Amino acid sequence: MPTKPPEAQSTILIIDDSVDAIRLLSGILKDMGQILFATSGAAGIELAQQRRPQLILLDVEMQAMDGYEVCRRIKADSDMRDCAIMFVTAQSTMDSEVAALEAGAVDFLSKPLNAPVVRARVRTHLKLQRATAALMQLANKDGLTGLFNRRYFDEQLAREFLRHKRQGLPLSLAFIDIDCFKAYNDHYGHQSGDACLKRVAELIEGATQRPSEVVARYGGEEFVVLLPYTDAADAAKYGAWLCEQIAVDALAHARSPVAAHITVSVGLTSMVPGEANSALNLVADADRALYQAKSAGRNRAVTATPL
Ligand SMILES: [Mg+2]
Repeated sequence: MPTKPPEAQSTILIIDDSVDAIRLLSGILKDMGQILFATSGAAGIELAQQRRPQLILLDVEMQAMDGYEVCRRIKADSDMRDCAIMFVTAQSTMDSEVAALEAGAVDFLSKPLNAPVVRARVRTHLKLQRATAALMQLANKDGLTGLFNRRYFDEQLAREFLRHKRQGLPLSLAFIDIDCFKAYNDHYGHQSGDACLKRVAELIEGATQRPSEVVARYGGEEFVVLLPYTDAADAAKYGAWLCEQIAVDALAHARSPVAAHITVSVGLTSMVPGEANSALNLVADADRALYQAKSAGRNRAVTATPL
């Protein structure tokens, strides 16, 4: 069976207020990916939000909302801004080309459309878009554990904080630290230390099921989990469950005063984001709770009490 070319997996959205133009473009691109279309800017933005296409072919001259405005709105939305936008226009002046690129488009197609040129440029931009997405993915991951890294976590925390503030709903955070990890490294060596970090990362990921939850390596032997739409009671249950999952895995730790195996301490915090608090408060509270869990004997989850 012949394998599909990689671009067949791409999703391409055509936004144009002319049905004839949509028909023409879909015909030209029909074997290059899944083709979606919308006949207005507003409908196009909605579809882009739902389906996250890799590439949008966007008509400049449209009623109600023109292509420049559609492009600006898509580029201002962190969920959609990675998608590549190519303008399609009948005004092929240098000014309109500059305006298109300044609005955030990657390229510009002039009408009348030439099928081989359109196909070649679309192929190039799909390839570039994939390479960029792969790079972004790499930049967000921790090399050792494969979890998200701290940079990505900080971005998601800021984003979720604002989202929960708008909605008035509770956001929780768990800081997780491997107990007596330095003693583990000293006794078993750094290679075993790395293997231990990987194993604990796997266990945390396995115990964290909801797709909106973000599991990241915060640094050293410290991990962090962002728990959207979670109140203090559910966060506490999650923390206790996590400690149990790590303990039952029973990875030997001969130098731990806590148990004969690897254990973790968990610091939790939960808040409804508002004007009086910030994402930094959330991190500071969880960190304080983690310190309390350590002081109280480790291998436990402690929820921060308001100061
Ligand atoms: Mg038009």
